[in-house]
Amino acid sequence: KLYNMVQDLKGNIRVYCRIRPAFNAETKNVIDYIGDDGSLVILDPSKPRKEGRKVFQFNHMFGPTATQDEVFKDTQPLIRSVMDGYNVCIFAYGQTGSGKTHTMSGPSEGSIKDVGINYLALEDLFEISSRRKDIINYDIHVQMVEIYNEQVRDLLIRSCASENGLSLPDATMHSVKSTADVLHLMKLGGVNRVVSSTAINNRSSRSHSVVTVHIHGKDISGNILRSCLHLVDLAGSERVDKSEVTGDRLKEAQYINKSLSCLGDVITALAQKNSHIPYRNSKLTHLLQDSLGGHAKTLMFAHVSPEGDSFGETVGTLKFAQRVS
Ligand code: ADP
Ligand code: MG
Repeated sequence: KLYNMVQDLKGNIRVYCRIRPAFNAETKNVIDYIGDDGSLVILDPSKPRKEGRKVFQFNHMFGPTATQDEVFKDTQPLIRSVMDGYNVCIFAYGQTGSGKTHTMSGPSEGSIKDVGINYLALEDLFEISSRRKDIINYDIHVQMVEIYNEQVRDLLIRSCASENGLSLPDATMHSVKSTADVLHLMKLGGVNRVVSSTAINNRSSRSHSVVTVHIHGKDISGNILRSCLHLVDLAGSERVDKSEVTGDRLKEAQYINKSLSCLGDVITALAQKNSHIPYRNSKLTHLLQDSLGGHAKTLMFAHVSPEGDSFGETVGTLKFAQRVS
């Protein structure tokens, strides 16, 4: 109870920023300063130090040495609130290669090594479920879909979905009772996710992937609790150069830009407590409507790459994140 009050005082939208380690020590690094208070200073590599400094502020900063467990620890209270009936959405935003999938799934989907939030969250929910088993009986189900070109596709069935796509209630529900069940589903979902080649990364994900965990609880007096946790690994936020891509790639890019900007609009409208929230402008926000706003809690991870040649995209990501916080 006390915990929930503290959360409510902090508001229901928070933004964390994570910077992955540099791949190449020789390239210029844009990070100047990371503060314990969530502040970040980056440097424009093309400008003199004094003129190129940009300062940002987030609820929390995770630098290149932050471990998966450290990231999870700071996310755990939010995730746990789903067991008390709150709806929760966690998004990973950032350009391709900045570490979104690493944070949400880990280095390789379906493997136990360095697992990310998706797995650690479910492991934690199972633990709470077993700890409370004398007073409340929980059932946990998982769905996993991707949104590609504004079409929803079930990632947990082998055959392709109908051409028209489907809505989330139609996606297959899978009962999970152990972390082994979860690993199995994540492996299947990872394999089914659309990957196609772009100039930036030849296995870059051009779709949003949404893992939804449904919690159903019944206590000894027969009271029912229902809530869900959405874990969203967003498509890469990079701006594509229209001269470089054409046809299907250009269409993909336009759908991605539109849905990410709609997500930003929805979260900003919620943060400003606007009376109209534009949920229906994209498939993603429409799908998550019941879990965005109201008493629901939202966490956005802004992912950035430390390399100087990503500076433009990094500023874009940090500005997006600053806007929604
Ligand atoms: P995205 O999903 O944003 O395209 P990935 O999560 O696939 O990016 O990360 C790109 C590469 O960087 C992967 O090889 C990943 O394992 C690695 N990586 C990302 N974040 C970290 C991190 N915090 N620590 C170590 N390696 C990381
Ligand atoms: Mg990815």
